[in-house]
Amino acid sequence: MSKYTHLFFDLDNTLFDFSASSEIALQSFAEIVGLPYDDHFKEVYHRHNHAAWTHFENKLIDGVTLRRVRFEDTAKELGIKIDGMHINRVYLKKLVENPRFIDNAEETLRKFSKTHQLVAVTNGLKEVQRPRLTKVNFDQYFAAVVVSDEIGYAKPENAYFQYAWKKAGMPEKSKVLMIGDNPVADIKGASNFGFDTCYIDVFNRNHSAEEATYRIKELRELDGIVG
Ligand SMILES: [Mg+2]
Repeated sequence: MSKYTHLFFDLDNTLFDFSASSEIALQSFAEIVGLPYDDHFKEVYHRHNHAAWTHFENKLIDGVTLRRVRFEDTAKELGIKIDGMHINRVYLKKLVENPRFIDNAEETLRKFSKTHQLVAVTNGLKEVQRPRLTKVNFDQYFAAVVVSDEIGYAKPENAYFQYAWKKAGMPEKSKVLMIGDNPVADIKGASNFGFDTCYIDVFNRNHSAEEATYRIKELRELDGIVG
């Protein structure tokens, strides 16, 4: 019998290959504004996107501004003017329409949903997270889905994990395993809250993630931990 009764799964880059989906969505952005989709375009976007998310996480800008400025600042640097909210809508729609999976994502959920309570815990945007889970029929596997954008708290905040833990029916904390790829949001955050954690590193990023109880390179390895 597994030590854990509840498995909390991060979504992006744990079950979904966000980078692959984002490539597709970004190409649409380039197409619409008539710019070449090249390394320079990508570098400029990723820099402004990262800056916007950092400002958002530090509560310097709100969610609407985050959605808009990452595209508007990119366009400005590339010498064009755009409607950021429009591009944002197109981008998010493309993300939902083009999900890409981490190897064995569905098999993992199907299998463990029979023996454990599964909870999706994600910091993504609400226009993407639930619609995408529904589109690929993953919502059937989760007892609860907790999207930071819907509740006003985000991983690694204690209030976020408190909310997710309540949603899960307040199981004994020692019986919860958090699985995720982000060393701070997933591993440090959940560990501080009192959960065991599993750092998954399918893209060989090799974060130290020192609080992690386990480290794995692919979802299949979860068998040896919770099987
Ligand atoms: Mg992630």
